[in-house]
Amino acid sequence: HSKECGRGTFSYFDEKMNAKAAERLVMHSRLRQALGRDEFSLVYQPQVNMRTGRIFGAEALLRWTPRDGEPVGPSRFIPVAEESGLILPIGEWVIHEAFRQARRWRDAGLSMQVSINVSGLQIYRSDLIATLAAAQRDTGVPPRMIEVELTESTLVEDVHAAHEVLDALKRAGYGLAIDDFGTGYSSLAYLKRFPLNKLKIDRSFVTDVCSNAEDRAIARAIIQIARSLNLRVVAEGVETVEQAALLRRHGCHEGQGYLFGRPMAAQDLDGLLEARASGTGPALAPG
Ligand code: C2E
Ligand code: MG
Ligand code: MG
Ligand code: MG
Repeated sequence: HSKECGRGTFSYFDEKMNAKAAERLVMHSRLRQALGRDEFSLVYQPQVNMRTGRIFGAEALLRWTPRDGEPVGPSRFIPVAEESGLILPIGEWVIHEAFRQARRWRDAGLSMQVSINVSGLQIYRSDLIATLAAAQRDTGVPPRMIEVELTESTLVEDVHAAHEVLDALKRAGYGLAIDDFGTGYSSLAYLKRFPLNKLKIDRSFVTDVCSNAEDRAIARAIIQIARSLNLRVVAEGVETVEQAALLRRHGCHEGQGYLFGRPMAAQDLDGLLEARASGTGPALAPG
């Protein structure tokens, strides 16, 4: 194979692969120091009730800003953190920090549910329940104010083990949402097997929901499945009033996306909540 390609071509690909591996290695060592250097933060994206327009909660999204570099997005560093197992201590920090923010909102008299993204490794290779319980004890936030987001692929990795963890989550009173719903390779059977509360329609079906009949059909089907199984359903990546109106018309309970608010620092979300409570903020309820 290398002979056919010729030496030059082969070493070109070889070099590219080495560059990629080197980049990962560098990122890995910088990620390993990031916790100690306090380089992580959480931003919060509002989640709204489609009928009333009320902000009832927010999803916590991780950000990494290395002291000596540019901010790095989670889709770039989470895979490296998962590969190296670093997602375990990082994920633990995320849980504690999200609970602390939930506590701040509670102390301010605001009813805000906080959604936390959890990786498969946290389910299978750490004691997620113990971590949540510790954060719960430290902050006194009731479990019903916390929702755990998992992807379909996480659940099907080891159905038996996942089941035990999810049942324990449910018993403890936490909410459970399936993230990026519709993009995984799992069967629909787990919808009745796992103790779920919510499906999150993946953004890829929402983006063209107004113009593409297939995307619309998939979004509607997900809404109908959720509703008939008594689950809540939320659309991710809602950017326009038209998308929101269409999804609401088809029975989607909740929305999340740039239309309602970008992921932002907690203080900025506080400002938004205050403005809306005093009636001076923008009306977000979709037409
Ligand atoms: P996700 O959980 O599906 O989060 C939604 C992503 O969509 C976020 O990207 C958010 O900024 C983006 N988004 C929200 N609304 C819109 C919109 O209207 N338009 C567009 N174009 N994008 C929108 P982000 O923050 O870059 O996060 C990417 C992914 O990284 C998340 O997808 C999640 O899978 C993962 N992630 C983020 N934080 C954590 C964490 O603390 N732990 C773990 N394990 N994964 C995390
Ligand atoms: Mg999520
Ligand atoms: Mg998602
Ligand atoms: Mg995602």
